[in-house]
Amino acid sequence: MTNGSEHSAGKEFSKPVASLERAERDLIALGIIVAAIILFVGTGSTVLTGIVRKWVYGIGNPDTLLANALILNIALIIFGWRRYVELNREIAERRKAELTAQRLAHTDALTGCLNRRSLDDSLAALIDSADTTGDEVIMMMIDLDKFKNSNDLHGHHVGDAVLIETAQRIEALMTERSLMARLGGDEFICALIFAPGSETAIERLAVQLNDALARPIECKGVRAEVTASIGIASGAKGAVNPAGQLAQDLLHRSDVAMYQAKRRGRNRFCWFEPSMETELRFRNELENSIREGLPRGEFVPYYEKQVDLETGEITGFEMLARWVSPRRGVISPEIFIPVAEEIGLISELSETLISLALQDAKSWDPRLTLSVNISPLQLRDTWFAQRLLKLLVEANFPPTRLEIEITETCLHENIGVVRSLITSLKNQGIRISLDDFGTGYSSLAQLRTLPFDRIKIDRSFVSTLNSNADSSSIIEAISSLGRGMALPITAEGIESAEVLVALRKFGTFKGQGYLYGKPLTGQEVMSELAEHKLLSPQSPADQYLFAEEPESPAAINS
Ligand code: C2E
Ligand code: MG
Ligand code: MG
Repeated sequence: MTNGSEHSAGKEFSKPVASLERAERDLIALGIIVAAIILFVGTGSTVLTGIVRKWVYGIGNPDTLLANALILNIALIIFGWRRYVELNREIAERRKAELTAQRLAHTDALTGCLNRRSLDDSLAALIDSADTTGDEVIMMMIDLDKFKNSNDLHGHHVGDAVLIETAQRIEALMTERSLMARLGGDEFICALIFAPGSETAIERLAVQLNDALARPIECKGVRAEVTASIGIASGAKGAVNPAGQLAQDLLHRSDVAMYQAKRRGRNRFCWFEPSMETELRFRNELENSIREGLPRGEFVPYYEKQVDLETGEITGFEMLARWVSPRRGVISPEIFIPVAEEIGLISELSETLISLALQDAKSWDPRLTLSVNISPLQLRDTWFAQRLLKLLVEANFPPTRLEIEITETCLHENIGVVRSLITSLKNQGIRISLDDFGTGYSSLAQLRTLPFDRIKIDRSFVSTLNSNADSSSIIEAISSLGRGMALPITAEGIESAEVLVALRKFGTFKGQGYLYGKPLTGQEVMSELAEHKLLSPQSPADQYLFAEEPESPAAINS
């Protein structure tokens, strides 16, 4: 397998001037050795013959001058030999340094994988190799999920350790004829050769990769948990798609498939399908339209009635975001909220809608409450409480009439930050509901740690109350939980009179649902409230005082 797994030695390589000087010195050394050997041959025979004659027959005296010359010769030859050995060592070191330089240029210094620069050539070679045996190349684009979170939470040294460990776990699962590269950040790519029709084996490998990468990584006492989304594409070289073209296609297709794996919930793999291209294009268009539509006022609040199930009286409204797109009509928040979250526009979008809703709600009877949904991402923002209070002050709206709804996913986030934020909001008189209860597996213990004012039973249980025994048991359990914890309950999704009758048996709830009407525009709410004489008496200005100055984020974090 190609992955350039040796790590760089980080050597500095010799400069041209230095190597020229060294070459000159080497040439002189070589000349000296050759001269010394010639002299040795010339003088050696004469001197050695004289010495032997003196020792054996006791006649004659060896020429002292020549003997000294011979000793000098021997010294020169020893010097020359040592220089020769040194020279060899230098050449070996230089060669090693050149190899290191080459490897550095082709591999990623952190993980030892191939880098993007060297990928094209290596891929083309792999594709050619697959072609010779009539096989296919399988490309797997691997992107870590929420790596940034882990990096932010534990620091970059843990992030680096995660990347190194990830590379090693991937490498451990690679086959003989394969390559892996790190494309940058938390994105890796593997290319492997498989015989046509090996889908089952490929999927088995993808599952193994998902499992291996989901195992927690221990580093310096920290347990980092990441998962991976994998996009798979396959192809073989042909007359119409030469190696270079196929490499680019496979990279693109596996990237599109990886993106789908993320959208389908992460920690999974997805094969590329041509329809994904269209979806991706739609998604890009959606992102751009949201960016453009926000300043154009295309996002507006709708309101869903909330009623007291005993008396049938309206108690307030839940604000539900709608996108009134000139091209596509009215679009559900379930489509655009996740996109707005991903492209970092959720706070701006939410705050724009909340301030519109506050203006609308000021015209309602002051006894009516306004509920707004808050994304878990907003709760991570330490300035959220300040900004919400600023909106309330600007609208001169009493915090006690505002309820914020957070979903159970918030409980899995940094619970300390969420608790401080909730406490800070509650100190201002804002009430907090736990939305969609029953769908997010939050435990009773988690529920106790946060000071909620209300729980809302998810509509999936309520709407199936009469048709599904499980729903009925879940609602019964939530009702007794609510009683036990003295938490009032709202039932969402009441669609029929039968469900209402069944619900009432479990206790006294507030409720909302299509039985009481579908979400309405601000204007429609005004008309309905006017009919029920539930509009605010004039001039509500200046009647509300805020409990205290908003707390600083530092206090919220502590
Ligand atoms: P949610 O907070 O649970 O809102 C209730 C959803 O159930 C609404 O869908 C509402 O139209 C729908 N619904 C109400 N009664 C019935 C019923 O009787 N039957 C059925 N089948 N559905 C009913 P919607 O407006 O599409 O909102 C979906 C979700 O989008 C909301 O769920 C909420 O989590 C989120 N959302 C809406 N507006 C915002 C917002 O401004 N910010 C954030 N972060 N999320 C929002
Ligand atoms: Mg809600
Ligand atoms: Mg809900």
